[in-house]
Amino acid sequence: MIITLDGQSGTGKSTLANKVAKKLGFKCLNTGMVYRAISYYLYQQSIFPDNEIAIVNSLSKIHIQILFEEEKQFVIINNVNCTPYVSSIAVQQNVSLYSQILPLRERVTSIQREFALCNNVVVEGRDIGTHVFPDADYKFFITCDIHIRAQRRMADLISNGQQITLKEVVESLKNRDILDTTRKFSPLKRADDAIDIDTSHNTIEQSVNEIIKYIKLV
Ligand code: C5P
Repeated sequence: MIITLDGQSGTGKSTLANKVAKKLGFKCLNTGMVYRAISYYLYQQSIFPDNEIAIVNSLSKIHIQILFEEEKQFVIINNVNCTPYVSSIAVQQNVSLYSQILPLRERVTSIQREFALCNNVVVEGRDIGTHVFPDADYKFFITCDIHIRAQRRMADLISNGQQITLKEVVESLKNRDILDTTRKFSPLKRADDAIDIDTSHNTIEQSVNEIIKYIKLV
C-alpha cells in the first residue's frame, strides 16, 4: 500500500508521516531530505544551482543510499553522510533552486518508486500524490497557517543551534513556497483526489488520528 503526504514546508508533514507509518507498521520516506542531501553534496562541491550541466554530470557519478536506523532516515552520497547538514543555511537557501532541475527530480523520483516496490510505505514531499505515485492508495494534502509553520520551523532551527529571527523564517518559507509552487516540473500542487488535513490548530496526535481514520488496511 502507498500513502502519500504532500504540502508546504513546516506543515508538520514529516512528523505526521513518521507517526502514521509507525502506527501502521509501514516504512516512511522523507523525500525533502533526499533533495536536501543532494543539494548539500552539490553545494559543498561548488556545483551551484545555476550550473545545470555540471549538476547533470555530477548526478551521473553519484551513488545515493537511503538507510534507516531505528526509523531514523540517513542519506549517504558517495560515502558522505549528508544527513547532519540537511538543515544548514546553505541548504535552506538553495534546495528549492536545485529541485527545479528536471534530471535531478527524475533521479529522486526513480529512488522513490524503487523504495515503494517491495514495501508498504508512507512517502512525504511535494509532488508525491500528483507525480511520483499518482495511483497511490491514499493521498493527503497537509496545510497550516504560515505563522504557525514559521514558529514550528524556528523552534527546530534553534534546537539545532541556529540563530535566526521569526521574520527571517517567514521570508524563507514564503520564498520556498513560491519556488515550489511555480516551478516548471512537478510543482507542489494538491492532487484532485487528496484528502485535506489542516494542522494549524491540531496537536500532532489529532492530525495523526485524522489521517489514520481514513485508512482501511486490507
Ligand atoms: O520537505 P522539505 O522542506 O524538507 O523539502 C525541502 C525542499 O525540497 C522543498 O522546499 C522542495 O524544494 C524540495 N522538494 C521537492 N519535492 C519533494 C520534496 C521536496 O521539490 N517531493
